[in-house]
Amino acid sequence: MKSQPNHPKFERTLVIIKPDGIQRTLIGEIIKRYERIGLKLVGVKMLIPTADLIEKHYTLDPEWRTKTGLKTIKSYVDKGLKPPHTDPLKITAIILKNLVNYMTKGPVIAIVWQGSHAVEIVRKITGGTEPLTSAMGTIRGDFVIDSYKMSDTDGRAVRNLVHASGSVKEANDEIDHWFNKNELFDYRHISEAMLYDVDLDGILK
Ligand code: ADP
Ligand code: MG
Repeated sequence: MKSQPNHPKFERTLVIIKPDGIQRTLIGEIIKRYERIGLKLVGVKMLIPTADLIEKHYTLDPEWRTKTGLKTIKSYVDKGLKPPHTDPLKITAIILKNLVNYMTKGPVIAIVWQGSHAVEIVRKITGGTEPLTSAMGTIRGDFVIDSYKMSDTDGRAVRNLVHASGSVKEANDEIDHWFNKNELFDYRHISEAMLYDVDLDGILK
């Protein structure tokens, strides 16, 4: 394969199996879903995150506080419910505090996946943020029964098993935040020939 760093097959994204994913013995199930579609694992590590690592992770995108607050308000309004606050930043201040608490409670597994449209494909497999409405067939839709109503009532972050980068920019920033360059591997995966080779040479003798 010719090396063209801007080709979409080189796109990378970050997945984090959150503490609940590990405790619920879903590591293999989760990795399998990203692996079987044809993504290539190029980096993996297990660690217990510090509060600082998590807080920085969620605020790498300066818009995250506003976007996540608005998304939460919309989900309440869509269900005919009253959101906990009308100010999105008030909502996210609480979410961030609860997220730090959630994500530092045990080991997590950080994984970098590479392949065609990695960011979008991983988000599709992962499913929407709120498990109550995540589509069936997605990781969050298939394995979680949590909701914003549940998490807000109990004053905690919504448990949804995995983090997945939301855009290519977010992915690049997050990968830099979690991995050193020497922890990521450039290698050829045999199956890439079937996914990306133009002429499919080498099947017939
Ligand atoms: P995603 O993980 O789907 O990209 P966000 O970036 O908006 O979602 O939020 C980050 C994480 O914060 C979510 O995965 C979830 O664990 C938690 N979270 C987001 N919104 C809420 C909310 N309204 N109530 C509780 N937890 C939330
Ligand atoms: Mg996000």
